[in-house]
Amino acid sequence: MSETSTTPTGGHTAQALVTQGASKPFERSTVERRAPRAHDVVIDIKFAGICHSDIHQGREEWGQALFPMVPGHEIAGVVAEVGPEVSRYSVGDRVGVGCFVDSCRECENCKAGDEQYCLEGEVPTYNGKAYDGEPTFGGYSTSIVVDENYVLGIPEGVELDVAAPLLCAGITLYSPLHHWGAGPGKKVAIIGMGGLGHMGVKIAAALGADVTVLSQTTSKEEDGKRFGAHHYYATKDESTFEELAGHFDLIVNTVSADLPIDKYLGLLGLNGTLVHVGIPEGDSSYQAFSLAGMRRSMAGSKIGGIRETQEMLDFCAKHGLGAEVEVISVDEVDQAWDRVVDSDVRYRFVIDTSTFGSGAD
Ligand code: NAP
Ligand code: ZN
Ligand code: ZN
Repeated sequence: MSETSTTPTGGHTAQALVTQGASKPFERSTVERRAPRAHDVVIDIKFAGICHSDIHQGREEWGQALFPMVPGHEIAGVVAEVGPEVSRYSVGDRVGVGCFVDSCRECENCKAGDEQYCLEGEVPTYNGKAYDGEPTFGGYSTSIVVDENYVLGIPEGVELDVAAPLLCAGITLYSPLHHWGAGPGKKVAIIGMGGLGHMGVKIAAALGADVTVLSQTTSKEEDGKRFGAHHYYATKDESTFEELAGHFDLIVNTVSADLPIDKYLGLLGLNGTLVHVGIPEGDSSYQAFSLAGMRRSMAGSKIGGIRETQEMLDFCAKHGLGAEVEVISVDEVDQAWDRVVDSDVRYRFVIDTSTFGSGAD
C-alpha cells in the first residue's frame, strides 16, 4: 500500500475515480477504506473492469443512485494485508471481488450459496450501503477492504487484467449456462456479443454446447468464431428469424437495450428457455402465446454466488479462458463509457490502476 496513507481510525486513504452525479464526469479523488476487521482482506487493486451496469447506475438509468460514486465490481488485485482471523488468504495472494461484498449469511439463499439472492439484500460493492450504514465504494480505485468470505481466489494461469471481467461478466454467463444445462447436444444462442456476451460464447463453447451468436450485424463474426462460436447471425437481417425459427434449447439475452421479445421466443424449440441477463432501463412486453405455443419458458438470472464464482474461475483457468480486454488509463474512463454505450468495445475495458500514478495529485 505504498500509494496510501493511514487515517486516524487505522484505515487508509485510497485513490479513486469519483463521479458526483448522473451527468458528471469522473474526477481523480480519494476514498477512506476501513481498518481491517478480524476477517478482512486489504486488496491492492491492479485492474478493474468496466461493466455496462456501472453505466446504468452511474447515469441513474436504473433509478436514483448514491453519490459520490466510485463504480467498479470487476476487481482483480493482490492481498496487501489481512485481519488477525483471516484463514483463506495470505499477503501476496492474487484475488478478485465481484458485485457484492457482504450478505446476511443467515437466510436460506445465503446458506445455499446463492448470496446474490440474499433475502436481506446483499451489500453491493458500490452504490449501496453496508449493514452498518456506511456507503460502499467500488473498484475504480487503488485498494478495497473486503471480508474474506466475499473474496475469490484467482487461479494461476489467468492474468489479472483478463481475470477482472470474469468477476461479473464471467459469472453472469456461467451461472445460467450451468443452471439450464448448456453442454453437449444443446443448441445455445447468445444475444449480443459485448462484455457479457463474449464470455458467454467462450464458456458455452467450453461446456461443449453448439453455440450461435445473435449479434446486430456480422461485423464481429471472425472474433465470435475465434471465441468458440459455431454459427453467427445478424439480427438486423430478418431472414435470421425465419432460418432459426424453433431452433434453440437455450437463449441467453445479454443486451442492454429493449428487444422485440416475441421474435426471439420464436427461435426456441419445444421446452426451450430464454434467459434475460441484460437489464435494460425500460419495461419489456411479450405475448403469452409466444410461450404457450411451444411450452417455452422465460427467465432471468443475476450474477452468481461465491462458491459458484470460484467454480467459474477454476473452470476458466482449466480451459484457458479469460476476457478479451482493452486496457485503459484512469483518465480514459469517460470516453470508455461512451464507447460501451455505442457497442464500440472489444470486448471489455479494463482500468489499469497503476495509472493513478504516485498519488501526489
Ligand atoms: P455491453 O458490453 O455494452 O454489451 C451489450 C451488447 O448488446 C452490445 O455489445 C451489443 O452487441 C448489444 N446491443 C447493444 N445495444 C443494442 C440494441 N439497441 N439492440 C440490439 N443489441 C444491442 O454490456 P455488458 O456489460 O455486456 O452488459 C449487458 C447488460 O447486462 C447490461 O444491461 C448490464 O447492466 C447487464 N448485466 C446484468 C448482470 C446480471 O447479473 N444479470 C450482470 C452484469 C451486467 P452486438 O454488437 O453483438 O449486437
Ligand atoms: Zn457487472
Ligand atoms: Zn442472506
